[in-house]
Amino acid sequence: MIKPLNIAIVGGGIGGLATALALLERGFDVQVYERAQALRPIGAGLTLTPNGLNSLDTIKSGIVESLKQAGSQLNELTLKRSTGETIASKPITVMQQYGQPMLNIQWSKLQAILAAALPPDVVRLQHYCLGFEQSSDRVRLFFSGDKTVETDLLIGADGINSVVRQTLFRDDAPNYAGRVSWRAIIQFPCQQLSPNASTLLTAADGKNFLLVDVGEGYTFWSASALSTDDFVRQWATTPKNRVLERFGDWAEPVGAIVKATPEKDIVERPICDRPPLKHWSQGRVTLLGDAAHPVVPSLGQGANMAFEDACELAECLAVAPDVETALNAYERSRIPRTEVIYDRSATQGYRSYQPDSETTLGEMMKPSQMGQDDFETWLYSYNRSSNLPTSKPNELKQ
Ligand SMILES: Cc1cc2nc3c(=O)[nH]c(=O)nc-3n(C[C@H](O)[C@H](O)[C@H](O)COP(=O)(O)OP(=O)(O)OC[C@H]3O[C@@H](n4cnc5c(N)ncnc54)[C@H](O)[C@@H]3O)c2cc1C
Repeated sequence: MIKPLNIAIVGGGIGGLATALALLERGFDVQVYERAQALRPIGAGLTLTPNGLNSLDTIKSGIVESLKQAGSQLNELTLKRSTGETIASKPITVMQQYGQPMLNIQWSKLQAILAAALPPDVVRLQHYCLGFEQSSDRVRLFFSGDKTVETDLLIGADGINSVVRQTLFRDDAPNYAGRVSWRAIIQFPCQQLSPNASTLLTAADGKNFLLVDVGEGYTFWSASALSTDDFVRQWATTPKNRVLERFGDWAEPVGAIVKATPEKDIVERPICDRPPLKHWSQGRVTLLGDAAHPVVPSLGQGANMAFEDACELAECLAVAPDVETALNAYERSRIPRTEVIYDRSATQGYRSYQPDSETTLGEMMKPSQMGQDDFETWLYSYNRSSNLPTSKPNELKQ
């Protein structure tokens, strides 16, 4: 084990917080540097799948139990037309198959549970990282306000527009996927929304609307639509009006839930990804979560992959004789798996907004679609603690 090792994580999102927890549990000295003034939720709600929950369970026991209490376990998924007719409905049986549920949860709850598990002095707010330089044995980080910090190892968990990644690899801006998303969370009791259920409504003109029970009486809604223009902020109307223009005449409760949502609670973002990197590390610096492998959110795997990364990186650092060996092992383990998820997310994301989206999404609801079952088994049964293989499933190898 490489110790004592002082580790700096740039980014206090859910990937950075989970990594801090994993490293502290392994006895490392960790600081998280976050640019924000407070840990604020950046998303409204999200789905945690068995692979992500297994990783969190390995990181620290008790976390998953707290999440289960705060969230909602998905039992049923329904696909509908925008007019409201049901195309397909299926029971969700991942708990029986993989020993962990499909857990929908408010972002703020997840973030609060992770943050509460950390000692209070671990996260340093108001630290905007501008870049770093490294030598063979140290990394020096530069923050706005002329602050500098020296560390033995730097982990960039600073999201899709990562400064750490940019300093390491100087790559281009993220790829705009041609879609914009709007999302919010709201207490909205209504007949059409059942507990422990999710409903996806789809239309042939490149639009989808998702409604998810995220527990404690809250519903997460997420609207997305094809758009040639990703500069959403420059459009004339407000985000809420933009959603209502596109979805206001859809089957209820779509219009009603958007109308009831306060304007300030609607998050509007272009959907982007980045093509996979061949390496994530150089010297004493590596990447994690969206900084390493941002994907479009069609499989709901971004946060789940960040938890897998956190688990794997902590394990590699704990057992390797030196930093270089640990980071090599981390990359070897994580890059092949995240590449598969990137490919699948991109393909499915694209197809879900084509004129035949009803057929594409309907096919995915069928219990024994060729390839889909194998993919889900490979995806959800990932469990670092049981040393399952992390290579690509045979049918997905190129
Ligand atoms: C519409 C949508 C729905 C999604 N749904 C799901 C889902 O259901 N399930 C799922 O698993 N994933 C989902 N995702 C993906 C998920 O949001 C991301 O993969 C996840 O948030 C990545 O976490 P992260 O910690 O790597 O990055 P982020 O969450 O982006 O966190 C990065 C952190 O770094 C900080 N930061 C950035 N730059 C700097 C800097 N220079 N200095 C200091 N701090 C900095 C930021 O303030 C932020 O706190 C969804 C994404 C979208 C867009």
